[in-house]
Amino acid sequence: MNKCFISRRRRLCNLLQEKGLEVLIITQPANLYYLTGFTGEAGALVAMRAEAALIIDGRFTVQAREEARGVSIRLQKSTLPEAVGRFLRAARVKRVGYDPAALSVAQFRELRRAAGGGRVWRELSGLVEGLRAQKDPSEIAQIRNAARLASNVLIDILKLLKPGVREFEIAAEIEYQMRRRGASGPAFQTIVAFGERSALPHARPTGRKLGKKELVVLDLGAILGHYCSDITRTVFVGRAPERIRHWYRAVREAQAAAVAAARAGVECGEVDGAARRVLAGYRLDRYFVHSTGHGLGLEVHEEPRVAQGQKQRLKPGSTITIEPGVYVPGTGGIRIEDDVAVLPEGSEVLTRVPRDFIEL
Ligand code: ZN
Ligand code: ZN
Repeated sequence: MNKCFISRRRRLCNLLQEKGLEVLIITQPANLYYLTGFTGEAGALVAMRAEAALIIDGRFTVQAREEARGVSIRLQKSTLPEAVGRFLRAARVKRVGYDPAALSVAQFRELRRAAGGGRVWRELSGLVEGLRAQKDPSEIAQIRNAARLASNVLIDILKLLKPGVREFEIAAEIEYQMRRRGASGPAFQTIVAFGERSALPHARPTGRKLGKKELVVLDLGAILGHYCSDITRTVFVGRAPERIRHWYRAVREAQAAAVAAARAGVECGEVDGAARRVLAGYRLDRYFVHSTGHGLGLEVHEEPRVAQGQKQRLKPGSTITIEPGVYVPGTGGIRIEDDVAVLPEGSEVLTRVPRDFIEL
């Protein structure tokens, strides 16, 4: 594992060189883990061309020494921005890159003051995120494990969907089952939505009870070995009316079309378009109110965005969700979501739950 952190830092150094920078300041926890193996939720990596320093506070001293390899570890004696600033001053570096999305205005001011004059500051967004978007086979294996875990939980949870059960009971059971199987936690707030609440793409579980003939949307994901999974299935409790079956057929066909389109070299917008065209054929496209998917990795939403007009091309190692849906306000919604790894040839669907319409 140590080797991969070193090779990632080397790739980052090459990028810094290309951009004419001496240093990049990195503070996002997922990026810290990606580049060093450190799992603490606070700290800063000062990545220079020849070396890197991890600056942390006293809570993380032991953890940083155990986890972070090949970087020098420095204990901050003041606030993090001030400690980073002082480090830059002592290292006498001039051209400094930072991610404006990762620092508040107040933090940046403090950093600049502590670093002193004579430095050139360059905003640089998403450099590490760009590297993270292309997963290596060991990362895909981790996501596959997280995806299998979430798939198994979803299959088991279907047995608990009986009239009278409440949304929050199912959500609690899902998260308990994930932890029982070794997940470090849910990758995001579990979504459980019954009946007309399934028309809310991001429904938070409530005390609503499951009725006798209703839609159920379950959207869940686990973090396992630092990597996230994300899966959605929609089922019907009882026998579904023809209108619901029709919507389900449309979403399933749209999802299959987008999964088939997700190949190396294809623009993300084309993958989105593949799903949208199928729904338009069913005259349901106006009920598809979000994008088709998102990158998945150390974070549950990362690069690339699989959305309308996105020109970014998929590459071998891109790992994304495909999750079209149809949401009819006041009536109900249907979403089917799988995790897909793009390979040099074709792709692999990592989540393993049948996509046939299930009536319980
Ligand atoms: Zn999801
Ligand atoms: Zn998702």
